Amino acid sequence: MPNRRNVYFFHPKNKETKALVSPLIELAKQYDFHVVDNFDSANIIVSIGGDGAFLQAVRQSGFRDDCLYAGVTTSDQLSFYCDFHIDETDKMIEAITTENIEVRRFPVLQTQIDQGTSFYCLNECSIRSGVIKTFSLDVFINENHFEAFRGDGMIISTPTGSTAYNKSVSGAVVDPLIPCMQVSELASLNNNNYRTLGSSFILSAEHTLTLKLSNDNNHNPIIGIDNEALNARQVDQIQIRLSDRQIKTVKLKDNSFWQRVKRTFL
Ligand code: NAD
Repeated sequence: MPNRRNVYFFHPKNKETKALVSPLIELAKQYDFHVVDNFDSANIIVSIGGDGAFLQAVRQSGFRDDCLYAGVTTSDQLSFYCDFHIDETDKMIEAITTENIEVRRFPVLQTQIDQGTSFYCLNECSIRSGVIKTFSLDVFINENHFEAFRGDGMIISTPTGSTAYNKSVSGAVVDPLIPCMQVSELASLNNNNYRTLGSSFILSAEHTLTLKLSNDNNHNPIIGIDNEALNARQVDQIQIRLSDRQIKTVKLKDNSFWQRVKRTFL
């Protein structure tokens, strides 16, 4: 990685994790990397923890497309965004000394609530009723009404997020080389008033999905952006599309997306 020398280690600032991270800091210095103490001056951001820590590192650093992210897991549990285990220093040395390291690019969603701020998502944007009641929304693809949903909620996932929450509701696993988003339902009611497709569907980068919430049962919906919940008292509509931005991670020879799918699920 000749052009990237500034590394930021993202980890919980407790004694236990600091002890785990300090050998990595030493290793980085030994190979002439500068360990920086803020995201902004880094061009490599390393998260220490699991998938949740990786999602937070990407979110808190602002979904930067000009730096390389790497996930280091501290547990023996399988993890989708972590290419290294904390003990695999040989593998890390191999990666940091490789001249032309290959990079993987992951699609990201851009979510806008009403006319407000946009949020990025690496796994998914989800919307659920905040109370023990169904809620309804109209689903539009671009300007065209597509379906009338009533039920528990919806999940709109990226390809890399397709193996997370989306998979638990029988959504398809999608290759991250396909720039798209997948829409999956959470327990939809289907009757003569409300009719949905009933299966997940996948939209290309050309399309914008709009979810319009009806006024009569707009009960403080819970909107999830990856592993964070947004506080939204009154929401009229959510617009979701694929962002132009992509997240870059290191590509290792034994850790393709489909190898990880096989290791995790088969
Ligand atoms: P975490 O690290 O505790 O993750 C929870 C679990 O989800 C872990 O086993 C993790 O490995 C796995 N996971 C996260 N992203 C994944 C991905 N892209 N592919 C496969 N597995 C993945 O951290 P967290 O902060 O709780 O994780 C947040 C994620 O958990 C959300 O983005 C959502 O996708 C997922 N989630 C799943 C369910 C469900 O399956 N019923 C419900 C809520 C949230």
